[in-house]
Amino acid sequence: MKISEKQLELVNDRIAALIKADNFYGKKLKEAGVTTLQSAEDFEKLPFSEKKDLRDAYPLGLMTVPEEQIVRIHSSSGTTGTPVIIPYTQKDVDDWAIQFKRCYELAGITNKDRIQVTPGYGLWTAGIGFQNGAERLGGMVIPMGPGNTDKQLQMMMDLKTTVLCSTSSYSLLLAEEIEKRGIKDKIHLKKGVIGSERWSDKMRESISKGLGIELYDIYGLTEIYGPGIGISCKENKGMHYWDDYIYIEIIDPVTGENLPDGQLGEIVITTLVKEGAPLIRYRTHDLSMIVPGECACGCKFPRIGTIMGRTDDMIKIKGVNVFPSQIEEILGTFPEISSEYQIRISHLDGKDTMRIYVETNGSVDFNELAGRIKDKVKSKIGFTPIVKVVEIGLLPRSEKKTVRVIDERYD
Ligand code: ZN
Repeated sequence: MKISEKQLELVNDRIAALIKADNFYGKKLKEAGVTTLQSAEDFEKLPFSEKKDLRDAYPLGLMTVPEEQIVRIHSSSGTTGTPVIIPYTQKDVDDWAIQFKRCYELAGITNKDRIQVTPGYGLWTAGIGFQNGAERLGGMVIPMGPGNTDKQLQMMMDLKTTVLCSTSSYSLLLAEEIEKRGIKDKIHLKKGVIGSERWSDKMRESISKGLGIELYDIYGLTEIYGPGIGISCKENKGMHYWDDYIYIEIIDPVTGENLPDGQLGEIVITTLVKEGAPLIRYRTHDLSMIVPGECACGCKFPRIGTIMGRTDDMIKIKGVNVFPSQIEEILGTFPEISSEYQIRISHLDGKDTMRIYVETNGSVDFNELAGRIKDKVKSKIGFTPIVKVVEIGLLPRSEKKTVRVIDERYD
């Protein structure tokens, strides 16, 4: 999806602000010789920004307005080195709340709902993002934060909570506790707004059944406001995002080229109106695609697909970028095979090849099944793998996380 004239105008405004601020990123743009953009093609030539740049700007090098206008900072986790600090103006905080309010509205949540917020509060953007959006909506917020399951369930029953905001793993834990304690008839939950970790359909079903709720996936990252820049709708075919606040492009993570709608690649985000720390072409390393066409739900905002993993997982076979999650998804459409599989990538006779091992029981014609899997990978991803079908139980299993992708090319 090309950048629109209106969006381009907003980007020009942000570029001017960055250059004027002469901060870390403003200097980079100046060095790259960036001035006013005339066209979508100009935009696609802009340099990317990376998490590393944001770390280099630590602590306040991203600040793009005078300090008097900064009302808050957030920080992304610093478990792997220097953290990233994002300054927010009052308008940024308000804009974020407006976007989050839209998320709730798209999920059919109203000011009559009672919204229990279980993600954490503090430096990161989770809990407070859910809260500000819910207050903007006029809902009744129950700001629990994480953990303390006894109290969590007590409040849920006494206050008749109707909406649960949570990670997928914590909502699964709550579902199991409710089942264990036999209190399902005292729970009034209707909907769950779940943070965007990658989760399987199976897990989704367990949560939805266990809590008796509809689930909505929320997307966001600290560098770009936080959660609430996009959400899935009742059609559950991708997440709508607010293209008056952000511009999303999908790029080939190796070449940096823009990919057409419908193709899987890396999500790159440009903030259109952010004041405290605008970001231009920020590489998220999240994998998804622009979902082509309009959504049956009637919402006109564009969509990205479910997050399929991280770019670091990518493998290149015969010039085609492949992600293990894509293969996994295809294998999931064959009910006759078990959930165990193995992918081996090797370099033979000057060519990269992929072998996929799957398991089935003896009632299936192995060759015929292998052929069907091959054809499906070819039609969906664009290359032909070697598929080997074996008896159930033959693939290695482990107590710990089973290694399913083995790259033998560099041994
Ligand atoms: Zn929709």
